[in-house]
Amino acid sequence: MAKADPGKGGHHRVPDAPDPLPIPVVDNHTHLDIARDGEGAPDVAAAIAAAKAVGVDRLVQIGCDLPGARFTVEMVDRHPAMLGGIALHPNEAPKLAEAGTLDAAYAEIEELAAHPRVRVIGETGLDYYRTGPDGVGVQQDSFRWHIDLAKRTGKALQIHDRDSHDDVLRILEEEGAPDRTVMHCFSGDVSMARTCADRGYYLSFAGTVTFKNARGLRDALSVTPLDRVMVETDAPYLTPAPWRGATNAPYLVPLTVRAMAGVMGVAVPTLCQAVSDNAEAVYGPW
Ligand SMILES: [Zn+2]
Repeated sequence: MAKADPGKGGHHRVPDAPDPLPIPVVDNHTHLDIARDGEGAPDVAAAIAAAKAVGVDRLVQIGCDLPGARFTVEMVDRHPAMLGGIALHPNEAPKLAEAGTLDAAYAEIEELAAHPRVRVIGETGLDYYRTGPDGVGVQQDSFRWHIDLAKRTGKALQIHDRDSHDDVLRILEEEGAPDRTVMHCFSGDVSMARTCADRGYYLSFAGTVTFKNARGLRDALSVTPLDRVMVETDAPYLTPAPWRGATNAPYLVPLTVRAMAGVMGVAVPTLCQAVSDNAEAVYGPW
């Protein structure tokens, strides 16, 4: 990795590799199909190798539009370190509905989800930040459809929740959540963390937990039980401190893990073992 000054260069600077973790962990949510503006698509084999070199030995690739879902199914066949998750993102479903192609897209997602290395339906959920009131009905219908798909196929569920905590929790309750449900990029407060843990959901924390202004999120992490906690990049977005704003990648997970261990008051190896065990509990071995 090239040395770079964290203060300069926008998202084109390349963060240094962190020190390796003592016990391997899983990046629970990454998008290796997505290129940042002005950058080429990530080299998947190189991204996996760079992650392994610092103790991130496995990852869950999330494809959340049709091209991303097709990419995911192709990649999980090629890379033993990778499992897949597929869905139509809550910001994608309203666009497909408007184009009149949502039902065809559901049919294809359902077909692709039969792949044995697609172990999770996601990310699905609600996003009241990027999609306005016009899209809410479609988002909620789509969320319910994905919950049902996860249950019918016996797969886990990964939830995207942006500015929509109450409706996400309500709809999960109304539909009945799948046995293994993961709040991806958890963004709630202490009380929501407690509710999710009480319901048996998993809480997956991204680089946002390292941000200076994320005190409420760290408080939420501090009440999250070790047997419910997961870690993720959401790459190429949400790069942890001190590289906030640069392009994220799975090899940066150790920065988030070390920050999380500090907040939770546990030793780094303890947290590594927990996030690895939790990933296997949710997705099964791979
Ligand atoms: Zn994502």
